Amino acid sequence: MVTQMEPETDIAANLAGVIERIAEAAAAADRPPGDVTLVAVGKSHPAGRVRAALEAGYRVFGENRVQEAEEKWPDLKAAFPEARLHLIGPLQSNKVHRAVALFDVIESVDRPKLARSLAREMETTGRRPDCLIQINTGEEPQKAGVPPEDADEFIGVCRDELALPVRGLMCIPPLHEEPSLHFALLREIARRNGLDVLSMGMSADFEIAIRFGATLVRVGTAIFGPRPPLNRD
Ligand SMILES: *Cc1c(COP(=O)(O)O)cnc(C)c1O
Repeated sequence: MVTQMEPETDIAANLAGVIERIAEAAAAADRPPGDVTLVAVGKSHPAGRVRAALEAGYRVFGENRVQEAEEKWPDLKAAFPEARLHLIGPLQSNKVHRAVALFDVIESVDRPKLARSLAREMETTGRRPDCLIQINTGEEPQKAGVPPEDADEFIGVCRDELALPVRGLMCIPPLHEEPSLHFALLREIARRNGLDVLSMGMSADFEIAIRFGATLVRVGTAIFGPRPPLNRD
């Protein structure tokens, strides 16, 4: 009930707590605090809760669906023009136009057809959101992402042939597996391809991800609370 009545207070306090835990995890890993950026994941939460985080001073956010982001974000971006928005969910080729218009970072580039559509759209519009390549480190058939064994070749195509602004890699480890093996694998693929950005770690495991070199952690529940069941993927 308190959550319902005072979402702003809650969210500001949760946000401060997560930011502090990130700083502590970075320090424990001998990394400068500025190395790790929190992506506050507002998916499935109403715009008002995301606005509370913006009003608390936070500026980097993630959404996993283009349509939902289009419903929430134009007004929020108008009110907070410095806000940066990451797409962290799967992107269909027919939504590339809308995604490139709205997002500042696309974390889910994972197949040649999508990469080609993105390259064409960036060429036409001149808008060039940073791109991360999503790697399916657990090789789960139902999950998006490039299989690890195809990663080097796909990164090469995106960077060299299509000239996409590829900055790094993203992964979502299998739910019930020890995440550190997946984080280490992502770090190794990034290292051998000369990529700096590692988007890995969520509410349950972001401290471990930071130990393994995460530069972006995507945290939803620990900031905004449990997601409402309606309207969820
Ligand atoms: C929902 C989501 C998150 C955040 O998950 P929490 O466990 O709520 O922190 C992170 N990454 C992706 C890709 C997501 O879809």
